[in-house]
Amino acid sequence: MEDDYMGDIEALEFINKFLYHGNLTFALAVAKKALEKQIPKKPIAHKETNRAECPICGATVRGIKKPFGNWCSKCGQALDWSE
Ligand SMILES: [Zn+2]
Repeated sequence: MEDDYMGDIEALEFINKFLYHGNLTFALAVAKKALEKQIPKKPIAHKETNRAECPICGATVRGIKKPFGNWCSKCGQALDWSE
């Protein structure tokens, strides 16, 4: 999705900025965080309501009927919907 793509671009801009200022440690930390979001994590599911939340930021990622997508629209975390 476009929102998530923008998130990655933002991360790259951060990395570029910190590299420019010679802050390699921070640049690597931002890179690591961005990459970790691409590893799908299982959402926190509520069986009673069938709703689900992002395991990272807590945003609602599934309504009563269907998932909103394979990514959290708020923080960009990849989501694993397999059972
Ligand atoms: Zn999230």
